[in-house]
Amino acid sequence: MLNSNLSLNLQGVSKTYPGGVQALQDINLQIGRGMFGLLGPNGAGKSTLMRTIATLQQPDSGAITFNNIDVLRDPSALRRVLGYLPQEFGAYPRTSALTMLKHLAALKGIHGPQQQTVVESLLHKTNLWEARDKSIDKFSGGMKQRYGIAQALLGNPSLLIVDEPTAGLDPAERRRFQNILAEVGEETVVILSTHIVDDVKELCSQVGIMGRGRILNVGQ
Ligand code: ADP
Ligand code: MG
Repeated sequence: MLNSNLSLNLQGVSKTYPGGVQALQDINLQIGRGMFGLLGPNGAGKSTLMRTIATLQQPDSGAITFNNIDVLRDPSALRRVLGYLPQEFGAYPRTSALTMLKHLAALKGIHGPQQQTVVESLLHKTNLWEARDKSIDKFSGGMKQRYGIAQALLGNPSLLIVDEPTAGLDPAERRRFQNILAEVGEETVVILSTHIVDDVKELCSQVGIMGRGRILNVGQ
C-alpha cells in the first residue's frame, strides 16, 4: 500500500497565547508510520500541538504538511484523513455505542451494509462488542476511552491523534488500550501524548520529549 510513505512534517511551528504563554516554540518534527509518543508534563504544550495538527487552532507561524497536504492552507483535506481523540471528550451521550457509531458513520458518508461491517469491526477491535447496547454515559473510564478510539477510527484515518488517552485508567485498562493502539499504529501515523513514561516505553517507535513549548529530544 501507499501508506508506507506516510509522513507528517512540522517546520518552525510557534504559538503564543494572548496573555503571553509561549505554548509552542519553533517546533520541528518529522513523523512517519507507526506510533509517535509525545511525552511531557502538564503545561508542556502537548494539547496545543495536537489541536494545531488537527486544524482546530492556528499557529502564529510555521508550516505543517501531511503527505502532500498543506495542513494550514487546506484544513478540510487534513480532516478527511484525520482521527482525533481530544483530551477533554466532553459529555458522553445517553445512547448505545452501537447506535452512536452508526450515526457517526452515516455522518461520514458510510451507509448500508458497509456501515454495519465497519461499526461491528470497530466494536470488536475495541473490545466493546459485548457492551454495544449499553448507554455510553454508563461506561467505565476505560470503556469510554475505547469508545473514543472507535469513533476516531471511523472512516479509516491515516493520521490518528490521541491526547492523554490513558490518564485515569487502571493498569489493566491502560494495557488494553495500548494494545489497540499498537495494532492501529502498524498502518497509520499515530501520535499519542502522555505524561506516563510507561505508555511510550514499549509501544512507540519514536518518542519526543516536550517541555515548556519545546521539543527537547527525539529518540527511537
Ligand atoms: P499540555 O497539554 O502539555 O498540558 P497545553 O497545550 O494544554 O499543555 O498548555 C500549554 C501552555 O499553554 C500552558 O501554560 C497552558 O496554561 C497554556 N494554554 C493552553 N491553552 C490556552 C488558552 N486557550 N489560552 C491561554 N493559555 C493557554
Ligand atoms: Mg494536554
